Amino acid sequence: MDLKDKVVVVTGGGRGLGRAMALELAAKGAKLALADLNQQDLDDTIALCQELGTEARGYICNVAVEADVEKLFNDVVADFGSLHGLVNNAGITRDGLFIKVKDGQVVSKMSMDQWNLVMDVNLTGTFLCGREAAIKMIELGVPGCIINISSVSRSGNMGQTNYTATKAGVQAMAVTWAKELSRYGIRAASIAPGYIGTEMVMSMKPEALEKIAAGIPAKRLGKPEEIASTVSFILENDYVNGRCFEVDGGLRI
Ligand code: NAD
Repeated sequence: MDLKDKVVVVTGGGRGLGRAMALELAAKGAKLALADLNQQDLDDTIALCQELGTEARGYICNVAVEADVEKLFNDVVADFGSLHGLVNNAGITRDGLFIKVKDGQVVSKMSMDQWNLVMDVNLTGTFLCGREAAIKMIELGVPGCIINISSVSRSGNMGQTNYTATKAGVQAMAVTWAKELSRYGIRAASIAPGYIGTEMVMSMKPEALEKIAAGIPAKRLGKPEEIASTVSFILENDYVNGRCFEVDGGLRI
């Protein structure tokens, strides 16, 4: 897919990896529809995209709410007249040990709130956006591509029972969609970033970050642009389908 004038939705596009993806795609001439919860973040990212000379619009949308997501894709098609790509990037963490034990006593457990919030945004949000995007692409009769942002944590990580379940789930959904939707000209794939220096990661304690960086073969955190360039590679390469791209500095070698 040549990205020039193609319409791409990026969820969580207001900041972090989503902003880097928007800027990467804007530089390639794509038209951006950015969905997020925070208007100021959206406005800032849109201004940066527009400086690169492309059309960009922001949409307040909670990806976990079906009515919001249906409205988002109706509005995007009404505003831009088409839809070629979706990056399911919006995601949150609510970390905590599955079960915490002190002096032989269970002192806490992962709460239903921690579980449900992460399920709703990361898993249900990806499901809803993927479904509504695919419907629009099929109705429009255009070839399309959906990318789910998974994580290196998808294979299991301390304190992330909820998050790891969602990140394994979004990777698996991309495989299922590749199998189901290829017949309509829609591809799907996923990216599993390692530790990338966004607010989500930089909010960790500096000592913990140092320890993490030391354990990465690349000896550093990743840059948002390194995930963004993987997004454009997948969108541009029509022979990529179903796979998960690990961009983690070799963390899982
Ligand atoms: P971030 O917290 O900086 O940005 C996430 C964005 O998603 C924010 O703009 C936030 O407002 C938005 N968002 C959150 N809940 C939403 C909702 N319900 N509806 C719409 N938007 C919502 O995080 P990030 O580091 O940029 O991460 C982006 C994605 O990459 C996430 O899915 C995350 O799990 C994944 N990821 C990040 C890393 C990393 O190291 N940063 C590593 C692996 C995977």
